[in-house]
Amino acid sequence: MAAQDGICSSDDNRDGRSALIFVGTGCSSAVPNAMCLIQPSDPPCHVCSQALSLPPDQNPNYRCNTSLLIDYCRSDGDHRYILIDVGKTFREQVLRWFTRYKIPRVDSIILTHEHADAVLGLDDIRAVQPFSPANDIDPTPIYLTHFAMESIAVKFPYLVQKKLKEGQEVRRVAQLDWRIIEECCETPFVASGLQFFPLPVIHGEDYVCLGYLFGEQSRIAYISDVSRFPSSTEHFISKDGAGQLDLLILDTLYKKGSHNVHFCLPQTLEAVKRICPKQALFIGMTHEFDHHRDNKFLVEWSKQEGIPVQLAHDGLRIPLDL
Ligand SMILES: [Zn+2]
Ligand SMILES: [Zn+2]
Repeated sequence: MAAQDGICSSDDNRDGRSALIFVGTGCSSAVPNAMCLIQPSDPPCHVCSQALSLPPDQNPNYRCNTSLLIDYCRSDGDHRYILIDVGKTFREQVLRWFTRYKIPRVDSIILTHEHADAVLGLDDIRAVQPFSPANDIDPTPIYLTHFAMESIAVKFPYLVQKKLKEGQEVRRVAQLDWRIIEECCETPFVASGLQFFPLPVIHGEDYVCLGYLFGEQSRIAYISDVSRFPSSTEHFISKDGAGQLDLLILDTLYKKGSHNVHFCLPQTLEAVKRICPKQALFIGMTHEFDHHRDNKFLVEWSKQEGIPVQLAHDGLRIPLDL
């Protein structure tokens, strides 16, 4: 992303700072949309067909399930790696971006909710854990709500089961230490030394999803799945409320109209104006968004409104102090 957009990116992971690495910025079905490639329209979908001609790491329109890797550089210089969400495309994201940025492991996991695009990669967590045929390793802490825990216990009983049943042989599976968090802004928790405040938001009127506020030197809010902000949550992250964010990372699904469980661009831009962060990056996009074309529009919007906003892209790395 260009410096004139007001949002700086960097490839340098040896600068002794923390960094946010956007390992996924796409919707649940991810981009390219499979149907655009197996039954192409006439003319073909411009955004998806780029996946056939450009390698993913050179194609900002190639979007895996939304997920953020926080490379947290502590005061002693040690790095801790905190992953928010582990979706259907987790393995692909590891192969592409963990290698590029030399991420050696995941130290803790935080879940926003239990939908498929946030949790269905959990089986593959074993791929980033030390090999142990007897599963005799330190489990990775994973923070989630009670509701998400109950759902995951049904989806992945073998990841939740504490002890082997009589006669059951050891199978190598991801080792996870499940830690229940509250759906409340006032109840922070600490993952790998970094404090997180849950941000309950409505994700469809019958469902609560969590965003997270973190960082002391930079105040960052990450909200991947939202259709409406409860006033208490909005107050907690607003310039006119508890204080201005340095960076708001926010859901936007389609370019026009509205959707029952996600913000689309009109609602996302309205929320940015109300919350008034120093800058904002958008995530969760479908193939309706063309990275370069739509970021040009957003540069103009940013000039008008005085808040730099851009679409994020898979592989975007932003160094900062947390
Ligand atoms: Zn498409
Ligand atoms: Zn969802």
